[in-house]
Amino acid sequence: MDFQIKQTLQQKLDAINEFLHEEIYPLEKLFLYHKWDELFPSLEQCREKVKTLGLWAPNLPKDTGGSYSGLLDLALIGEVLGQSPLGHYIFGCQAPDAGNAELLHLFGTVRQKEQWLLPLVKGEIRSCFAMTEPHTAGSNPTLLDSTAELKNGQWHINGRKWFTTSAEGSSFAIAMVVTDENTEKHKRASMIIVPTETKGFNIIRNISVMGEEGRGYFSHAEVEFDNCIVPQENLIGQRGSGFALAQERLGPGRIQHCMRWLGIGERCINISKQFMKKRKISSTQVLAQQPLMQAQIAESLAELAAARLMVLQTAWGIEQNGFEQSKNMISLIKFHTANVVQRVIDRSLQSLGALGMTDDTVVSFFYREERAARIYDGADEVHKIVAAREFLKN
Ligand SMILES: Cc1cc2nc3c(=O)[nH]c(=O)nc-3n(C[C@H](O)[C@H](O)[C@H](O)COP(=O)(O)OP(=O)(O)OC[C@H]3O[C@@H](n4cnc5c(N)ncnc54)[C@H](O)[C@@H]3O)c2cc1C
Repeated sequence: MDFQIKQTLQQKLDAINEFLHEEIYPLEKLFLYHKWDELFPSLEQCREKVKTLGLWAPNLPKDTGGSYSGLLDLALIGEVLGQSPLGHYIFGCQAPDAGNAELLHLFGTVRQKEQWLLPLVKGEIRSCFAMTEPHTAGSNPTLLDSTAELKNGQWHINGRKWFTTSAEGSSFAIAMVVTDENTEKHKRASMIIVPTETKGFNIIRNISVMGEEGRGYFSHAEVEFDNCIVPQENLIGQRGSGFALAQERLGPGRIQHCMRWLGIGERCINISKQFMKKRKISSTQVLAQQPLMQAQIAESLAELAAARLMVLQTAWGIEQNGFEQSKNMISLIKFHTANVVQRVIDRSLQSLGALGMTDDTVVSFFYREERAARIYDGADEVHKIVAAREFLKN
């Protein structure tokens, strides 16, 4: 087994790391203190710089305008970018656009690609993904009840969604809605492109999450579809293929989330390290010399290293054998890594004392934001059930 990272990739990772330190970390203060009007133009300037470096959209193939070079490479890039909450956005591979672009690349029609995919990959527009509903269990999307009815060549969409991340400022949504009420449960739903300027696409509110409504890309909306009418050709793939497409969309996304979480853990442990090496706790000792603190660091290092191996092995397995064969591992890494990163962030925050509670470091943001890691893209319990059931079956 060869754990060596090839030289060309290592150079890329070093370049991304340098960019993070020089260009992205200085912007975090604006982000953490919600200075949106100052932040957004700076983000756009940074994105333009990334494009000139040839590192833009590492999740998408070159023929669409990206710089993809394999899933393992993407995993390692995602780990570096994950160290900042701004990293993925600045490199053009942020959720939910990344998943939407990958979906359109694989299943979009020529017209859909021209109209939506190309500007999305270029970073000229943003998008959102509207599947979860406030009144039905997102863990079992066969219960979805928002509908799209086909009348005279047009879809008439009605229903309510929430946690439509980044809806504010998006040019289009991909809506997962019921198109065939009375058929087999996994064939009831389809995905349809809805331009957000369409009459009847109404953002009700940006939901306040952990005390913060956010703005634009950094927000989660509640959305109403009130007889929202779009052309029949906005359907993605086959009618009734919504669940199959959702699997395609979420599969690679879970590798990317896991590697991003590992990057977060690494950033937090490094912030702790810097603090602990300087923080005097007596006339002769700094915090880093305290055995109890050292034990916390060791536990975080071990948990991150083990999770990293699991995630990279899964990415490798997907490259060798495809997603279908790797479904169990994907479930295992999803809940395992989400829990690891939370423990690592928590230990880091504890090591910083009161400073950890402030927004003067990024740790408190990660602490609030990544609690959701155990819920979105499949709650812990759902992934545990999937993995255990499969193991017990065979
Ligand atoms: C920050 C954030 C961003 C999101 N972004 C998007 C987005 O862009 N687009 C989108 O469509 N959705 C998005 N979501 C929604 C997310 O996908 C759902 O929250 C998730 O699927 C869980 O669904 P639910 O919230 O309805 O919880 P429910 O399905 O109601 O479940 C509630 C809880 O019950 C437990 N549970 C559920 N099923 C089982 C079971 N079978 N056995 C045991 N326990 C179970 C779990 O602990 C779960 O957390 C986002 C969510 C968050 C928090």
